[in-house]
Amino acid sequence: MSERMVRQFMEMVRIDSESGNEARFLEYLLGELRRMGAEATLDSYGNLLASFPARGCSGAEPILLSCHGDTVKPGVGIEPVLADGVIRSQGDTILGADDKAGIAEVLEALRVAPVHPPVELAVSRQEEVGLYGVKAMDMSRITARRGFLMDNDTLDTIVIGGPSYFAIDVAIRGRAAHAGMEPEKGISAIQAAAKAIAALRLGRLDHGTTANVGVITGGIIRNGIPASCSFLAECRSADHATPCAFPRRPGPCASPRRRSPRSVSRPGPCSSPGSPTPRSTTTGGSRWRWWGSAPRTSTPRTSASP
Ligand SMILES: [Zn+2]
Repeated sequence: MSERMVRQFMEMVRIDSESGNEARFLEYLLGELRRMGAEATLDSYGNLLASFPARGCSGAEPILLSCHGDTVKPGVGIEPVLADGVIRSQGDTILGADDKAGIAEVLEALRVAPVHPPVELAVSRQEEVGLYGVKAMDMSRITARRGFLMDNDTLDTIVIGGPSYFAIDVAIRGRAAHAGMEPEKGISAIQAAAKAIAALRLGRLDHGTTANVGVITGGIIRNGIPASCSFLAECRSADHATPCAFPRRPGPCASPRRRSPRSVSRPGPCSSPGSPTPRSTTTGGSRWRWWGSAPRTSTPRTSASP
């Protein structure tokens, strides 16, 4: 690492930029990029977009380099400490290397590369909290057909795709009643949830697809028929269409019953940028809605999870 790069990285992490409060950092970056000769502006959402002309060559296809400008918490008042060739935070905050290390790499590369094609640079806001910046980015300003995401925690890895991610929050509503005095009047939401979960295929569904129920909550007291139960599930797949083919297996919940508990679900966050596509299926009369967005695997790119 060059001294300049280390100095720039430490300068950048000292500027607070927790998700939603990146404006001051992106203004700083805007100034740096303009001093380096870039045409740089913010789009209407506050994402930074910049372009550098080719250097030392002509006629080359432009490439996109992309980073994010926000950090997770606690990211206020970061004081980096350089010792024995390693930069760390003081311990009471994150360091902010995610993704300012990527930004530092891009800036240094653009300063020293003797030859490069036209480079478009996109630095998004609010990546860590759901990729909101990228979803709102002014894509009309990007002409490159190949992009590289500088947001990885290893130096020697190129990620060329990511799984579609389906987060499923299920809430089941039954009917409360005293378990000893009047059990006939109750409908157990816990039992309904148990049947629904038992009907699911979980674990590794095929070579590229996994599913899991990770959290279940329900009931209040031992002698009360529980009126509510909720669980959180997820499904990941390298093939976006595959999870929709694994929604259930034949089981006790296959036929809706007249007095079946009502269940509602709401979509969770998606892992990939783009508009989520709702899909639905049924399990024991309850409606599940699947949300996800297709990974872009056609173009090689580096990637890291938000
Ligand atoms: Zn990141």
